[in-house]
Amino acid sequence: MKKIIDLRSDTVTKPTEAMRKAMYEAEVGDDVFGEDPTVLRLEMLAAERFGKEGALLVPTGTMGNQLALLTHTNRGEEIVVEAEAHIYFYEVGGIAALAGVQTRTIRGQRGVLDPENIRGAIRTRDIHFPRTSLICVENTHNRAGGAVVCLDEMEAIAQVAKEFGIPIHLDGARIFNAAIALGVGVKELTKDADTVMFSLSKGLGAPVGSMLVGHGEWIERARKWRKMLGGGMRQAGIIAAAGIVALEEMVDRLEEDHRLARELAVGLAEIKGIGLNLDSVQTNIVVMDIEDTGLSVSAFLARLKEEGVLAVAFGEYAVRMVTHKDVDGDDIEQALLAVKKVAGQG
Ligand SMILES: *Cc1c(COP(=O)(O)O)cnc(C)c1O
Repeated sequence: MKKIIDLRSDTVTKPTEAMRKAMYEAEVGDDVFGEDPTVLRLEMLAAERFGKEGALLVPTGTMGNQLALLTHTNRGEEIVVEAEAHIYFYEVGGIAALAGVQTRTIRGQRGVLDPENIRGAIRTRDIHFPRTSLICVENTHNRAGGAVVCLDEMEAIAQVAKEFGIPIHLDGARIFNAAIALGVGVKELTKDADTVMFSLSKGLGAPVGSMLVGHGEWIERARKWRKMLGGGMRQAGIIAAAGIVALEEMVDRLEEDHRLARELAVGLAEIKGIGLNLDSVQTNIVVMDIEDTGLSVSAFLARLKEEGVLAVAFGEYAVRMVTHKDVDGDDIEQALLAVKKVAGQG
């Protein structure tokens, strides 16, 4: 049977042998009692890696982001967030339904907020106004096609945040992709963020889990919110064991995903009917415009699937492909042939 080449997301990655072995052998306890040594070790590792005091294992990135909102803000306040940020765009309205805050959305340049626009969005003191209580940054930015927020941009945003005394939450689901692409350590890249969420279950290949890092007392408050949302997991060391392998063994290889994404993008850009700006491909995400193929996105994806390649819709004429550890150079070649065929040139 032909292998299905799954480029829908880096979340489709399966745990490695080393992860499965670590999970099998993990020492566990009841983490709600704070007694799971493997969870404690992962949390220590994560905090250390990011140069923060504390860390919290959460089942998903979405829960991590929502906990950040719940812990940083009070109901009726306002947060400043990029117009297509995951926390706003893809989290089922949790901002409103769970945290009860309203959003001041700003359109970024390739997902990056202009510090002056942030300044303009921050509420002044006025009896009519809600208080601005959080600035959210996303790195890499998913909807912007895996775009990277560089150190200078982060520092400029932080300067405004500091001026107004407003904390920054960084949605860093793919922060290691950003760090690798920039050649900067994550500690340096996230030093201006008060709190960071990052995923173990995307490019790093763990089956389940994300982490929230921040200062110690803040993490303890987030832990309490996690319990309220039903995220107090018992022998979670089984999951944490894979997370430890993810952090220790799977970060450096992200470079390979970026190399493959570039290869994919270069090939796609040569196919007639496919629109793609090569400069937009900075990490492991490739977004292409398929309008000139004359197909709808759903027809394009259905035809592609018949050729054994999976991708996702990313707008009216946009299709997203993501590279990850479970695809290789041959798969990318196959995927390119499939797109060529679907676009009518195969
Ligand atoms: C995937 C993702 C999340 C959510 O993570 P889940 O584990 O799927 O809930 C949050 N933010 C960004 C930028 C993401 O790409």
